[in-house]
Amino acid sequence: MAVQKRFIAGAICPRCAQMDRIRSWEQNGIRYRDCVSCDFFEQAAIEDDAHDELETRVNREREEQRTDTIQTVRILDPKGR
Ligand SMILES: [Zn+2]
Repeated sequence: MAVQKRFIAGAICPRCAQMDRIRSWEQNGIRYRDCVSCDFFEQAAIEDDAHDELETRVNREREEQRTDTIQTVRILDPKGR
C-alpha cells in the first residue's frame, strides 16, 4: 500500500535546522516525520478519543491468540503419539 508523504510547510528540522525539509505521513495509527536533508526520523502515536478502545481491542486479540495456541497444542499432541 502506497503511503502519501507530504512536506510540512514552514517546519524546521530539529537536527539540521533546515526549513521545509520535513515530510510527514501516517500509517497504522502512527504519525511519522523525517527530514530529506539529514537522517532525522521520528514516530509518534496519533492521539485521539478512540485510544482507550483500541487498547482494549488489542488486549482482547492477544487473549484470543493465546487460546488459539493452546487449542493447536491439544490438536497436535495426539498425533505425536
Ligand atoms: Zn534535517
